[in-house]
Amino acid sequence: MKKKDNQTLISFYIITIFPEMFTSISNYGVTGKAIQKKIIKLSLLNPRDFTKHKYKSVDDRPYGGGPGMLMTFQPLYLSIKHAKSLLQDATVIYLSPQGVKLNQSNIFQLIQKKKIIFVCGRYEGIDQRIIDSLIDEEWSIGDYILTGGELAAMVIIDSISRFIPGVIKTKKSLERESFYDNLLDYPNYTRPRKIYNMTVPEILLSGDHDKIRSWRLKKSIEITLEKRPDLLEKKTLQKEEKIILNAYKKNKK
Ligand code: SAM
Repeated sequence: MKKKDNQTLISFYIITIFPEMFTSISNYGVTGKAIQKKIIKLSLLNPRDFTKHKYKSVDDRPYGGGPGMLMTFQPLYLSIKHAKSLLQDATVIYLSPQGVKLNQSNIFQLIQKKKIIFVCGRYEGIDQRIIDSLIDEEWSIGDYILTGGELAAMVIIDSISRFIPGVIKTKKSLERESFYDNLLDYPNYTRPRKIYNMTVPEILLSGDHDKIRSWRLKKSIEITLEKRPDLLEKKTLQKEEKIILNAYKKNKK
């Protein structure tokens, strides 16, 4: 995916009864800049604008009884249909705790789609007939229950936007982050050199790039082994990495 000037690389439509929540990604930080520069296009649709109910209500009791309310069919159906007509060929994703769990590797599947309509549930969720007739995929941000899909949509947009060309300036900064190549990030330090009697590791001040690179690799491997050994099990280790790992395990004994 290469960016030409002023070209939008990914477009999102969000179906939400709380569109104001999205100002937190459209007005601030890296995502805010990407939206202002139109690298990312973010549009919002409120199901309340598609209801004929006199109080603009968008929820009702579930058939069969039980606690809580559900989002009603018609406003959600009409708003998704409207979004589909405005963003043709988009994938319709329902944010749901039952969906595919987001992680650093499957983010790339989402980027490839380029046009996504996110449906944010509220209350106890949405009418199953919406899922059966209009939803292409369900995605979750983890095994816990949120009060609505908005935060999940924002987490997904934030995490995928970092990989869209032009959003993060240096590709290198993506490559050294936690989870890249199944390693966690190494420790980082910035000025001042000494504060409250705490110093910066001498090697980082040495200017010897090769030594700094191997110190960082060593730290990454040690930290991953201590905090997330499951990641190292998935990793194909290079020769230098195997040596570091074996030496660390030997010292620990
Ligand atoms: N009754 C639903 C269930 O048990 O599967 C949970 C409904 S939840 C209170 C309301 C909405 O929050 C859902 O419709 C969904 O859109 C969103 N949501 C909750 N947890 C989520 C998660 N882990 N990932 C993505 N969306 C989630």
